Amino acid sequence: MTDTILERLRENRSFKVNHCPTARPHRKEKRSWQRNQVPEKNCQCDDVVYTGEFAVKASFMCASIVIANVNTKCYKWEIDYCSLLYDPEVVRSNKYSYRQVVKGISAKELREKLRVASSREAEMLAWASPELKDTYNQGHVNIRGVPFSISRLRKALMYQEDQVFDITLVTWHDEEPLYNKDGCPMLFIVGGKHHITVLGQHPEDTAKFVGMTSIGYDAYTD
Ligand SMILES: [Zn+2]
Repeated sequence: MTDTILERLRENRSFKVNHCPTARPHRKEKRSWQRNQVPEKNCQCDDVVYTGEFAVKASFMCASIVIANVNTKCYKWEIDYCSLLYDPEVVRSNKYSYRQVVKGISAKELREKLRVASSREAEMLAWASPELKDTYNQGHVNIRGVPFSISRLRKALMYQEDQVFDITLVTWHDEEPLYNKDGCPMLFIVGGKHHITVLGQHPEDTAKFVGMTSIGYDAYTD
């Protein structure tokens, strides 16, 4: 069965990298939680695509959106984007906070929430004081306490219509000091066909702002 959404993404020039990273994986032995085998030759599949302002072909390093076919055999994608969710050692380590966002939401419904959030933000900022405009986390929505760029989420959902997703956030524990938060939170949007990872705002950037728009998933317990 052809994956028309991935096909369209691969052809879209604004979606920077249309194959998995060219560099060889740094880890050579398969862990027990992994489903995919270590490839004999360097994997060069095209069922993983990714993008981001600074995304490069060699590695996932600066990718802010990564979209994979859920059945991909890509070993590189699996070690970089599945260990947070599926490696029991990582999950049990309590290094990160796992927050379930929502189950069974369609891309359309999610997009509608983002549209409403955007227009609410625009309306609110039109009347806001210059100070609030300066400190407000514009263009971002609160998902379980973490800001995500609306345009980035929209891009991640590009061409999606009816696919239904379960969404999980993996982030730092709130009490973790800022200097220890050395990476971006990750949103996992997982459906029957695609496994989408979107990076949230870097905690150091978040710390500069006071408010952001909600899409109704902002309550959580750590
Ligand atoms: Zn691959």
